[in-house]
Amino acid sequence: MAKEELECSFCGRKKPETSLLIAGLDAHICDRCIEQAHGIVIEESKQTGNSELSAELMLRKPKEIKAFLDEYIIGQEYTKRVMSVAVYNHYKRLLQPPTDDDIEIQKSNIIMVGQTGTGKTLMAKTIARMLNVPLAIVDATVLTEAGYVGEDVESILTRLLQAADYSLEKAERGIVFIDEIDKIARKSDNPSITRDVSGEGVQQALLKLLEGTVVNVPPKGGRKHPDQKFIEVNTENILFIAGGAFDGIERVITKRLNMQAIGYSSINSDNNVDEDNILQYIIPKDLKDFGLIPEIIGRLPVLTHMDPLDANTLRAILTEPKNAIIKQYKKLFSMDEVDFTITEGALEYIVGKAVEYKLGARGLRSLCEEILTEAMFELPGSGETKLNITKSYAEHRLSKSTLKKLKAVS
Ligand code: ADP
Repeated sequence: MAKEELECSFCGRKKPETSLLIAGLDAHICDRCIEQAHGIVIEESKQTGNSELSAELMLRKPKEIKAFLDEYIIGQEYTKRVMSVAVYNHYKRLLQPPTDDDIEIQKSNIIMVGQTGTGKTLMAKTIARMLNVPLAIVDATVLTEAGYVGEDVESILTRLLQAADYSLEKAERGIVFIDEIDKIARKSDNPSITRDVSGEGVQQALLKLLEGTVVNVPPKGGRKHPDQKFIEVNTENILFIAGGAFDGIERVITKRLNMQAIGYSSINSDNNVDEDNILQYIIPKDLKDFGLIPEIIGRLPVLTHMDPLDANTLRAILTEPKNAIIKQYKKLFSMDEVDFTITEGALEYIVGKAVEYKLGARGLRSLCEEILTEAMFELPGSGETKLNITKSYAEHRLSKSTLKKLKAVS
């Protein structure tokens, strides 16, 4: 067949009428038909994507979301309930069909206040795992205003795109966890004349992202560069979860509680305040007094706190979550045909040390590592089939100096 006689097997256009005609086994396709087909593929995947999400959500009511969180996270009852509702509402908002009743459901971005190591990141990770959406974890301390050394706030979305394997559609339904949000608090109440590069300026830059806007994102990160092609990311349906330790905010809360106690005979005046867990009384105003600007607080409308971890919680964290540390070691040893057990006495000893040296939940892992490294080195290939860790074995492996070292790194 002469070249000019070739035609698109889909639309019948002759080769000279097309800009490109691609040959298949026994058919040809033109550039226009390729584009049309591509459009159909995108539309199709959008629809199946949404129905996947809706099916997932229709299946999971807040109580079920909480039950899922319970499998991985010990305690933190209040935050789990608040999160379950916030996430449920967020995705309900996402699924709402366009209506004409002017009622627009606003975003339920979340802010979690709690000491480090109490499970804030774990909470965000578990939610993302449940919803099967991409998650980007970013540290607010590296962010700076555009034009300064550090990362622009858009880099948050670059991370999300990466987590979504560059699927824009997935990224636009993802979750961003902004850690250490307290570190971008305004340093003092007087806005200074010199620009506050790492504090208020960053808060300002974050505002639009949190609220929902279209942002030009450099897909490979790095500074904006005229040559780099941007991807337009709409943050409207991205759920933002911020977390921070807010060191010292207890003082702000206590001060407020005391003032209330003096001013009115409020419920707090009868000394019912739980001094061990002051964070539970936190209100948005405390965040403002700590140095977050009101606009940021307004865009993180769901405020929740993490309870400090007591010995009972730490004990449970060792063995109860689905991927508990002790379960992980059991699995590691079983791969070498070693039956690993640990006595209650040893577990309590580990928890006791974590409490004594204020190592928190993160310290549990380091303590176990210190205790078990020797066995993990010696046992494989030795023919040994049993390992039982007792309190005295644990005591023997943990010297004072190792504990001090652990404290220093925690
Ligand atoms: P944060 O983000 O608050 O600093 P993380 O979520 O990183 O704390 O927690 C550190 C580690 O401690 C996690 O990997 C997790 O294994 C463990 N952990 C902390 N709190 C809990 C909890 N409530 N339940 C189960 N594990 C926890």
